[in-house]
Amino acid sequence: MDSYQNLIDGRWVAARSGRVLQDFNPSRNTEVLGEFPESDPIDMQDAVAAAAAAYPKWRSMSLVARGEILYRAADILTARANEISRDLSLEEGKTFPEAKGETMRAAALLRYYAGESRQETGHVYAATDPSTLLYTRQVPLGVVGIITPWNFPIAIPAWKIAPALVYGNTVVWKPAELTPLTAYHLTQALVDAGLPEGVLNVVYGQGSILGSALVADTRLQGISFTGSNGVGRSIAAVCAEKGTKFQLEMGGKNAVVVLSDADLDLAVEMTIRGAMRSTGQKCTATSRVIVEAPLVNAFSEALVERSRKLQVGDPLDSQTYLGPLASLNQKRTVLEYIQIGKREGARLATGGESIDMGGYFMSPAVFTDVDPGSRIATEEIFGPVVSVISAADANEAVSMVNRSNFGLSAAVFTRDIAKAMHFIEEVECGIVHVNSETAGAEPHVPFGGMKDSSSNSREQGKSAREFFTQVKTVYLDP
Ligand code: NAP
Repeated sequence: MDSYQNLIDGRWVAARSGRVLQDFNPSRNTEVLGEFPESDPIDMQDAVAAAAAAYPKWRSMSLVARGEILYRAADILTARANEISRDLSLEEGKTFPEAKGETMRAAALLRYYAGESRQETGHVYAATDPSTLLYTRQVPLGVVGIITPWNFPIAIPAWKIAPALVYGNTVVWKPAELTPLTAYHLTQALVDAGLPEGVLNVVYGQGSILGSALVADTRLQGISFTGSNGVGRSIAAVCAEKGTKFQLEMGGKNAVVVLSDADLDLAVEMTIRGAMRSTGQKCTATSRVIVEAPLVNAFSEALVERSRKLQVGDPLDSQTYLGPLASLNQKRTVLEYIQIGKREGARLATGGESIDMGGYFMSPAVFTDVDPGSRIATEEIFGPVVSVISAADANEAVSMVNRSNFGLSAAVFTRDIAKAMHFIEEVECGIVHVNSETAGAEPHVPFGGMKDSSSNSREQGKSAREFFTQVKTVYLDP
């Protein structure tokens, strides 16, 4: 079994305590994929000190030179994509094509932010005195902390780390405990691309200990977090107290609305994709389907029939549609929601059962006759479970979507452009799809939610520059 180490100040080092954590395969839960440091706050302090020491030199390097490193890292990820994606599948449980798609997206993100190194860094303004050169410059924040979840273990870190680095910040990254091997691959690609010592520091271990130590560190100028709502809110409270800039992307309770003029086959297929790909473990996964009453029976029957045909199994098997849940805890939580749904009176039309194949497998579940105010219709489940809800008309459907505290993603299926435009206008979500699944995001456009799904900042595309830089206004008189 391979042993991996933290990256601190350009050196691979064990946790000071010498303790390790094992990385398990959720498809064969006795198989250990590697050993990683179980770090303490003292290791985190070393990492922040290294990032602070590396900052002045990194900041003064040209943007273009920083971008070149990201271009090289993108090429390395691309060249190693098969090996990395296989490890991602083994470690997280998503199918190989999805893992490969994610790895290639990480490479695309690195390329996009490498390209940003050739873009403008400020604006020139008219000044009252014509001899004054009045302009702004976007400058880095300093040392930033990055905290990421296990469900997109390479794309999400890439979309935070790449802009942080290219705009001149140094980084301390706390990856998710469940997916350290994928984190190692991204780190190694950046190191092999020539990243100077101390510019990126990676510390493995438990989030409740290390994440809190990172967030509390007063040397940090920014924290970018993606994960659950509860952890996000606790980070917001600490950052607000000590005045640290923060960015949070959190959970969702994403809805598909199917209007009576919709293409039924398309709506069913996109609901299945949104709800069941990645075993439902996407922040943008479809969790509710709100169907106009005349179509609800036909839609439910087709959805149940399609769901029964999905193959659950080894994520490296090309026939598999959905692999295991990522951990035992995750599986227990999702199966508990199946019981909650039944107790609430919803009809479990198919699935929702544990499958004994040596890992954390379950059959994809469809609930029908779901009360829109029930727990399964309002709380994030984060598994292959979808609830069908009936609505009297398009207006009631959109108000049901908005009843959730979350506001990440939503989709409407209709052939009527006026109804689609009305939905786009009324829905309280950061991402809206018309006739496509709730999941999916292009690397170069803003990504993020409204309400409890986000701190209202956006990630990816040009939005990342707003978070990872600050503005300096210059009055230059001769
Ligand atoms: P999580 O438990 O909140 O963990 C996210 C990260 O925070 C992990 O690195 C975790 O470390 C760390 N962490 C845990 N406790 C912490 C603390 N007290 N202080 C600081 N950091 C701490 O979330 P998850 O289970 O990994 O991910 C699933 C959630 O992420 C879902 O709610 C999903 O919707 C959301 N998500 C949102 C987006 C989006 O863009 N909106 C994208 C993907 C996922 P450990 O792993 O060591 O616990």
